[in-house]
Amino acid sequence: MQEPELPQPGQTALDQTTQVRAWFEANKGSLRLPERGSNFRTESQELILPFFEKEPDWDQVHHYFFPDGREVFEFNLENKEIFIPSLGEQQQDELLMRRSIQNILFVKHPTEARYDPLIVRYYPDAENSKRDFKDINYQMIDEKWSGTVDLFTYDEHFFIGFEIEKGRILATRKVEVTGEGGRRGMGPEQLDIRCSVTTTDWIQIYFNYETKRLETITLSPTRSYSCAVGGPQGEGSGAGGNYAYLPGDSFPRAGGALGSYNPPDVPLPMLRIYIDSSITDDPRLSCIVDKLALSEFVSSIAEFTKTKGQNSPVTLILGETTKGIDGKPSNGTSTGNSDGTFTIVINKDAKALWSSLAFAKSIFHELVHVEIWRALENGGITPLPHFPANLDAFDKLYGSNENAHHSYMAEVLMPTMGRELMLLHQTHFPDEFKRFNAEVSWAYSKGVSVDFYENLFWGGMEGTKAYENFKNSSKFPNYQRDIRDLKDLLTKGCTS
Ligand SMILES: [Zn+2]
Repeated sequence: MQEPELPQPGQTALDQTTQVRAWFEANKGSLRLPERGSNFRTESQELILPFFEKEPDWDQVHHYFFPDGREVFEFNLENKEIFIPSLGEQQQDELLMRRSIQNILFVKHPTEARYDPLIVRYYPDAENSKRDFKDINYQMIDEKWSGTVDLFTYDEHFFIGFEIEKGRILATRKVEVTGEGGRRGMGPEQLDIRCSVTTTDWIQIYFNYETKRLETITLSPTRSYSCAVGGPQGEGSGAGGNYAYLPGDSFPRAGGALGSYNPPDVPLPMLRIYIDSSITDDPRLSCIVDKLALSEFVSSIAEFTKTKGQNSPVTLILGETTKGIDGKPSNGTSTGNSDGTFTIVINKDAKALWSSLAFAKSIFHELVHVEIWRALENGGITPLPHFPANLDAFDKLYGSNENAHHSYMAEVLMPTMGRELMLLHQTHFPDEFKRFNAEVSWAYSKGVSVDFYENLFWGGMEGTKAYENFKNSSKFPNYQRDIRDLKDLLTKGCTS
């Protein structure tokens, strides 16, 4: 067998992958729940898909932590077999198969030397939610992704599923379990009025090398409960709650004896950015947020601030913001919460007043605050020479408050912020971008440049030394002009 070649840096990452692999090779024979017959459906009606030997691709790994601190390694599976909930038509099923991702999680046990595996399957609703392995994992689902995330035990007992739609977890999905004697196992969700019952037909698709065709095996249908959850944490699950594998009373729980397989508890999938209904319920704001590549923007900033591994989610809502020194509510407020998550509030008055670009700008501005906080939590020191030999210096210079952030934005991050906003305008509001270019050709004869987009951000830097310097510079009159243009010339519309 070929040895995996993992990229340096991170001798430790390589060592850890090697450790997980060695543990898996030594233990994979015992990673089965007690035998309940070879059928994929037992008399308990629990969904158990046919077992197949798992072949992790050791070169493709995500390394992260659950909110409770447990360490997780998520590898892609090389296996060609894939199970999907059938859409009813062969062509549709094949498309779903091609966009689905099938991974294996190894959850490191907090005290024992073991890595309890789970299988995770991502079923995107449509082609635009198709992702490469590197762009999605169980604790990093971007706000554009819609589909179902299903968890199975290592030996393919259905565990739990989550229905996700563009930055919101809509529902959990549980398969009906009937106990001995036909009694149905009732979980708390099943009693909930917000649950609906659906029938899912599971199929197995694989490539048959003899016939050179995709072959489909139909498995018997299951009834599953789809139960609404709300909020980023899943209202129903309790704060920081984990989902435990509880296959009803018909199934003996794994005892936890050393060496036996214990499906680990899991938290909710983590959405990088959770968009609250105060925004999604408004057609125009929802349209704007749809166009913003927020996760990408966060990634590009995080690349810079070296906060990439940190995946505490951000909730975006429309509401009351704190008042500034001038007594007026600020455009936006970002807060670090005690549970490690962040909340961004955008001024609710913005809805009527701001152009779409202004709205985008304010969200970007607040997201940068969040990334700076993450960097500070990280120790504030990054190996990048530009991330000025370090944020600490800024912190000491200006104190740990808004001014330090704004100084840092103004002095360091401005080019990145301006570039991203310009890119957004060009790519997602192409008609307006074109028209605007024509209208301001008297000011920007060669076309609107990144200076315009940086200027839009300058207003938020008031109170910093950088802003004072800016105010006294020859650039300031252009800034005042551009702010006017933002108000007068840019539309509030948002067309898809
Ligand atoms: Zn700010």
